[in-house]
Amino acid sequence: MKEVLLFHESKNMKIQIWGCRGSLTTPGRETLRYGGESTCIEVQSDSGRRIVVDAGSGIRKLGLSLVKERNVSHITLLLTHSHWDHLSGFPFFMPAYDPDYSITVCGGPRPQQDVWKYLTRQMEAPYFPVDFSALKARFNVGCHCDQTFCDHIVPNGDQSIQCHSIPLNHPNGGYGFVFVNEGKTFIFLTDNELRYTHEGGLPRKAYVETCRGADILFHDAQYTEEEYSRTQGWGHSTFKDAIGLAMEAGVKRLGLFHHDPERTDDDLDRELDRCRNEIAKSGSSLDCFACAEGMVIDV
Ligand SMILES: [Zn+2]
Ligand SMILES: [Zn+2]
Repeated sequence: MKEVLLFHESKNMKIQIWGCRGSLTTPGRETLRYGGESTCIEVQSDSGRRIVVDAGSGIRKLGLSLVKERNVSHITLLLTHSHWDHLSGFPFFMPAYDPDYSITVCGGPRPQQDVWKYLTRQMEAPYFPVDFSALKARFNVGCHCDQTFCDHIVPNGDQSIQCHSIPLNHPNGGYGFVFVNEGKTFIFLTDNELRYTHEGGLPRKAYVETCRGADILFHDAQYTEEEYSRTQGWGHSTFKDAIGLAMEAGVKRLGLFHHDPERTDDDLDRELDRCRNEIAKSGSSLDCFACAEGMVIDV
């Protein structure tokens, strides 16, 4: 079932969730409400520019929707990192096969060849039957500056939306993204382990500062505390870590993201209740929800 959350009439940044499952696409009756597609979100500014973050399996349906819409010809694709659950949908993204589209691919401030390799290598034989050369869209590989905080990654100067990247605490590295539109901030930090330091990652207090006062944060909340005793160092946070960060940073709304493949809808409802109880006990006004496929949020 789709949930639509609307707060303002205009000048908004619209966030649409096409996939929020972590690690592996997880179809089935037990994941219908929160969804089984892996990471893909769309950020749309007032000017109509489309920014897609990650190419997990959720990007397939987004592609079909864009093709149906017909009035979008330029897409910016930001990639958080190279793990499969964030890339595997790309060969099924219909606009990539169509010469009428131009697609700018960006990541954080790493050499531009990296993001390009992420997409092309997974289509090399013997891993995929169709070669990258079958993709007829015009591709640009975006920002290749080497600043830690890069504000060039939404190219061509979209007037109404700004974006910069922040390093993730995750095995093999990666980047989260901060979007600012009309003074409102949306922060996307998936695959971020707050209680462990990976190479290139930041100390927890840096994430608290980045998230300070944000209007909305999607943060990795893959594990329960009990699960984390076995999975520490795998690159993900717990429910407790995510709400702790959001409360300390004074975030207004927190969307729990990167749901574990083992987590059923009913499990997630239970964990969400626990999170809300903890938040209430702390006297915080944080509004916490679990991200679900199909959600549209106006910020
Ligand atoms: Zn992931
Ligand atoms: Zn990952």
